Amino acid sequence: MHNRIHDFLDDAAAKRGDTVAIHDYADRAFTWTDLKGAAGEAEDLLSSFGLKAGDRLVMVFENCVSVPAFFYAASRMDAIIVPINARLTDTELERIFAHSDPSVVMFSADVSDAANAHADHFGADKVTGSFGEAALMRRDGADAEPVFADGREQVALMLYTSGTTGTPKAAMLTHGNLNSAALASVKLRGRRDDDVTYLALPLSHIYGFVALLSAAVAQTTLRLEPRFDVTRLYEALQTDVSLLPGVPQMHAHLFHYARAHNKAKYDAGHLRFVSSGGAPLDPAWKREAEAFYGLPLQNGYGLTEGAAGVCATLNEIGDPDISVGRPMGECVLRLDLEATGAEPGKGIGEILLGGPQVMKGYFRDPERTVEVMTADGFFRTGDLGRFDAEGRLHIAGRSKELIIRSGFNVYPVEVEGILTDHPEVIVAGVVGRPVEGNEEVLAFVKVAKGSPVTEDELKAFLHDRLAPYKRPSKIVIAHELPAAPTGKILKSKLIETFAEDLA
Ligand code: ATP
Repeated sequence: MHNRIHDFLDDAAAKRGDTVAIHDYADRAFTWTDLKGAAGEAEDLLSSFGLKAGDRLVMVFENCVSVPAFFYAASRMDAIIVPINARLTDTELERIFAHSDPSVVMFSADVSDAANAHADHFGADKVTGSFGEAALMRRDGADAEPVFADGREQVALMLYTSGTTGTPKAAMLTHGNLNSAALASVKLRGRRDDDVTYLALPLSHIYGFVALLSAAVAQTTLRLEPRFDVTRLYEALQTDVSLLPGVPQMHAHLFHYARAHNKAKYDAGHLRFVSSGGAPLDPAWKREAEAFYGLPLQNGYGLTEGAAGVCATLNEIGDPDISVGRPMGECVLRLDLEATGAEPGKGIGEILLGGPQVMKGYFRDPERTVEVMTADGFFRTGDLGRFDAEGRLHIAGRSKELIIRSGFNVYPVEVEGILTDHPEVIVAGVVGRPVEGNEEVLAFVKVAKGSPVTEDELKAFLHDRLAPYKRPSKIVIAHELPAAPTGKILKSKLIETFAEDLA
């Protein structure tokens, strides 16, 4: 029985020990046996630094082999992993240390200058092993959390949600949550012995974490990249990569890159499943990505509190379906129509998630946990959606992002979709701002350097395509928008970042 996430590692090492588990950025290959050995070394190091069952292990890194080695080591010790992207500042890390109360902090040292700089700043001790180099720091006085024999109760992972809309909070995910999510993901895409997953998504995000675990469930190979780099992705696709999970922006960067460099369309022949998730998928991007890959781009809806993917499409190429498909694995989805005032049985409601992937709660935050859980154990996602006649879910945006303009609902995702239809617009973010008892619609668009497009031109473009109340009062044109490490726009930062342009 798979009770803990490291059981998948043990199983893979026992059954497919000589298969490559991880190909790293320097083209080094670690078999499942090597990875199990590295996890054993990591476990010895962690116990010598005082990590115990129920303790938190904060890990500060960019993806490299030591990261899964320490993940599995922590799982063996019944400690709770708190993965953090090394791009955060020292001050942000201090806040996370204070909140998550770890007994040990690990910094990866192999590929990340940022993680190394943090290790130096905090005076961590350098350690080495077959996983490479890392640095460890002991922290006194941490309180252990309870430990449960049942993996459905035992917390394996705490993730700070990417905070695109508000104050970050740490979702506690159990071994049971993660196992269900990884099994559902493998079931969705199927498995082949020679599968190779290309993973440039951060392992500090639920999407990357579950993609790593899915490769362990399938006992197949992962090409692990420290971070997303479009040239490296394009080159890797010429090799044996067969599975490509990514966020919409990653696929868009790839086809823009291929076009700008007169690169051929994908034809290496190994790729068999390409997926997009974590943010709304623009229909134009879907078309262009499918034209590049020659494969359907599957859209998956996921969230930290639901242990990654909870709903996904299984479309054919060129299918105009822009839904997020049907529930994955044992996930149950229903709509709360009261939240939007829609008529019973139809219309847009708040999406509620039930089933084995629903998180245990927010760490040491019972009030916020109660706020987001219904009495029967469903999680209030804060997302808005509707089901079509075929039972497929369509995301309409987020309830907290809903803009109410002169009494009418404006869904930012709709306005963003139309803005990105303009050939000069790469990405768009739309938010509301209170103004004299009403709310105004503000848009922020990213365009390429040297783009001649003007605000008036974009406004004219929207004029024919959107009802007046949906049209932004201001469109800020920029070359960069504030983004989370996954590439998703940080909407909570848009107004403050462009305060001068809005003045
Ligand atoms: P915070 O909750 O702090 O604002 P966050 O919501 O960005 O952070 P994540 O868990 O990383 O945290 O993102 C999950 C959210 O991403 C979902 O709730 C949903 O709004 C959005 N999302 C994910 N997949 C899709 C998709 N395929 N289409 C549309 N939206 C998606």
